[in-house]
Amino acid sequence: MAASNKCPVWCDQRHPDGAVHRGEVGETTVSGLRIPVVILQVPGGPADVAISGPVYVEIHADDRDDMAELLGLAGQHALAGLVRQADALARGGAQ
Ligand SMILES: [Zn+2]
Repeated sequence: MAASNKCPVWCDQRHPDGAVHRGEVGETTVSGLRIPVVILQVPGGPADVAISGPVYVEIHADDRDDMAELLGLAGQHALAGLVRQADALARGGAQ
């Protein structure tokens, strides 16, 4: 087997080689709704951080700090922390 796609440390899926890596960093509740923060990565591509759940917002790597700041300003400190945690994991996993 040639280039095997070893999963990044944050991937929590059991999947065949070549499938998208996905890891849930954590979740919080906003207005009674479950909001998970996830990392997704097409093998060979960059690791993307997204807020999931009832909405789906992919956060550009350059915008994660600002998004976390905005969420903190909005009082969503748990969600802000998850975005920061996901950013750190995604950057580490991209090496
Ligand atoms: Zn994986």
